[in-house]
Amino acid sequence: MLSVGSASGSSCMTVLLQVRDLTVTYRSRNRGTLTAVAGVSLDIHEATTLALIGESGSGKSSVARAICGLTMVESGAIKIDECDLPREIDPASAAGQHGIQIVFQDASSSLDPRWPIWKSVSEPRRARSRSSSAEHRRAAVSLLNRVGLPASFADRRPHQLSGGQRQRVTIARALAADPRIVILDEAVSALDVSVRNEILALLDELKRERRLTYLFISHDMGAVAQIAGDVAVLYLGKVVEAGRAETVIRHPLHPYTRALIAAVPSIHPERRRCATQAIGEPDDPANPPSGCRFHRRCPYVIDRCRSDEPARREYDFRDIACHRAEDIKKLTANA
Ligand code: SF4
Repeated sequence: MLSVGSASGSSCMTVLLQVRDLTVTYRSRNRGTLTAVAGVSLDIHEATTLALIGESGSGKSSVARAICGLTMVESGAIKIDECDLPREIDPASAAGQHGIQIVFQDASSSLDPRWPIWKSVSEPRRARSRSSSAEHRRAAVSLLNRVGLPASFADRRPHQLSGGQRQRVTIARALAADPRIVILDEAVSALDVSVRNEILALLDELKRERRLTYLFISHDMGAVAQIAGDVAVLYLGKVVEAGRAETVIRHPLHPYTRALIAAVPSIHPERRRCATQAIGEPDDPANPPSGCRFHRRCPYVIDRCRSDEPARREYDFRDIACHRAEDIKKLTANA
């Protein structure tokens, strides 16, 4: 497996977060067993950003929730600094015991509407330290300043802030826990483009300043192209393509990645005309197709794809799970 997360190109970078053969299943009375994540492996190096991309239902958020201890791991391992994280649901882990914080898309639902902003920001710090209320407030104001909000915001309530300002507050709260890893789960997806770009720039500054490591979960390829050094593409719970962002986004090979990029006109418009269009809607994650999970939508499908599941392998400076990667490279080389 290619070591995704080495965007700087340095082979001696530390692997901070390692995910191996992660499987997450959900059981419900109506739908039976749904395998949301089916054997995902990732290495994320310290102070890099790995983007996990894919459509709704691809398993991105389940990977995030498993890493945070918010959902049960069926099998596989998650390690930070080579130490295993618990496989059971572990709210303590979610609260940052392992140096992980998560920022969700909906900042409103993660802030207590009754609390002044400073109290929400100081929540992780208050859980760890017995400092006075005045000291917690001072630290919260300092963090608010750091994310671009003036001290006057400290006593406001969440409903008095715009969507972008609320997301800055949730970032400040994540920083209050002194995290090493921040999971950004569709954290900029609800914002308009100009606010999104400001938040992405802020995240980039914070990463450099604090040597943060990001797992950036998104279906927004524009945002991914801006922030990520490395990319892993998920389809129905499996990694289908992974590698350096400049390789995977500029020269996608897997038909699913090509289709995702084709859907975003602003990314490499010169390559759009040669991009692959996926056919139809995603399959039901509760009932994935045999063989290659993408075969019903793939314009390059052959008989083998319907019966043999493609293994993830290294090819052309990336990991790819496709029987026809070599053919697709030739077929699309001059397109
Ligand atoms: Fe398409 Fe076959 Fe490759 Fe799957 S294995 S992406 S169906 S060509």
